[in-house]
Amino acid sequence: MALFKIFPRYATGVLHRGIASLSALSETHQMLQQTCRDFAEGELKPLAAKIDREHLYPQEQIKKMGELGLMAVAIPEEYGGTGLDYLAYAIAMEEISRGCASTGVIMSVNNSLYLGPLLHWGTEEQKQKFITPFTTGERVGCFALSEPGNGSDAGAASTTAKDGGDHYILNGAKAWITNGYESEAAVVLATTDKSLKHKGISAIIVPKPTDGLELGKKEDKLGIRGSSTCTLMFEGCKVPKENLLGELGFGFKIAMMTLDAGRIGIAGQALGIGQAALEVAAEYASKRLAFGKPLTKLQTIQNKLAEMSFRLEAARLLTWRAAWLKDEKKPYTKEAAMAKLAASEAATYISHQAIQILGGMGYVSDMPAERHYRDARITEIYEGTSEIQRMVIANCLLKEMGLN
Ligand SMILES: Cc1cc2nc3c(=O)[nH]c(=O)nc-3n(C[C@H](O)[C@H](O)[C@H](O)COP(=O)(O)OP(=O)(O)OC[C@H]3O[C@@H](n4cnc5c(N)ncnc54)[C@H](O)[C@@H]3O)c2cc1C
Repeated sequence: MALFKIFPRYATGVLHRGIASLSALSETHQMLQQTCRDFAEGELKPLAAKIDREHLYPQEQIKKMGELGLMAVAIPEEYGGTGLDYLAYAIAMEEISRGCASTGVIMSVNNSLYLGPLLHWGTEEQKQKFITPFTTGERVGCFALSEPGNGSDAGAASTTAKDGGDHYILNGAKAWITNGYESEAAVVLATTDKSLKHKGISAIIVPKPTDGLELGKKEDKLGIRGSSTCTLMFEGCKVPKENLLGELGFGFKIAMMTLDAGRIGIAGQALGIGQAALEVAAEYASKRLAFGKPLTKLQTIQNKLAEMSFRLEAARLLTWRAAWLKDEKKPYTKEAAMAKLAASEAATYISHQAIQILGGMGYVSDMPAERHYRDARITEIYEGTSEIQRMVIANCLLKEMGLN
């Protein structure tokens, strides 16, 4: 089996305790889960605090993840990917993010926001040029939709791509771009026909670095501080027409479909952060004495742990369901939004409670609880805020019921 070839070094560990839902997974998925967990435990968890503190891009670790097949999990082997399904990707995202949430987002952007649309809409030539070299961890890509003037309202893109004959000329700015510094190519959404509003947006593959593209300052973020986030500034940036992804005017559709899939990855990231916070809290509570006994003997603390645990497990099942629907080629927009909403709000809740359980020790960087809290917060914002997920869910629901 290909997976054994890809993951030989890490495929020998003992299954982690306390993951009741393992039995719901196939042998391949369980093995991938264990492999990623061992990698995260051995190579990411010990470094995560340093990555956060020093805003350190985990170059070496990304390279190793590329060798393990984690930078292109659901990309077919013929393009250099691992050839697994989206459930595998969601599981891998959780395990990697459990070790380090910064590494998790770098992985998610390359897998789902960059490689995802290229696989779906790319020509054979584009796939060879812009997928295969980005599967090994040597190179990463990025996805540029948001702008300084519009985030949630993605259809209002003001970055333009003017027809210049055999090339497009890009002008404008794309804000908040993850992997902005390290990426060697970007899928950029730009307006090719303003009169058509969101139907005039097109997706263009921009190699980096390239003339006419400058990077803004690295954002100083609350969490996921090992990943770079910056503005991409285009001024007369010429890109050959052969780099148009999909058809002219398909950009908004490409962006929305890409985000549907990406949300499953972010749900996975949130699960990993939540799982890490739950473990820190339970382990600390089992050792910390108050009033002559461990915190775990206090019913109030037990209630907190129970609440944290069931919210996480419910979100995990929603995430796996969304991934399964995608793998089955069934509609999954609503389910992906539910998964991201549930997992991100669970991660914020769990990491908040974890700090409470640790008391003073939850508030200082000697323990990872405060980092988990800071990392969790972004999962409620990017790839559509929680408000936008609720809007998507309600729209799908009303449509299903014939009430819109
Ligand atoms: C660390 C980080 C990394 C990111 N990475 C990327 C990336 O790689 N690529 C990329 O393209 N973008 C990226 N983003 C951008 C991110 O997707 C946006 O920040 C997000 O979509 C929200 O957009 P905004 O910040 O413009 O907020 P706004 O759209 O201005 O929203 C502000 C508030 O208003 C609410 N709101 C807006 N519209 C509605 C509505 N219709 N109904 C109810 N409430 C509403 C929002 O939920 C939010 O609470 C990243 C952002 C961050 C912080």
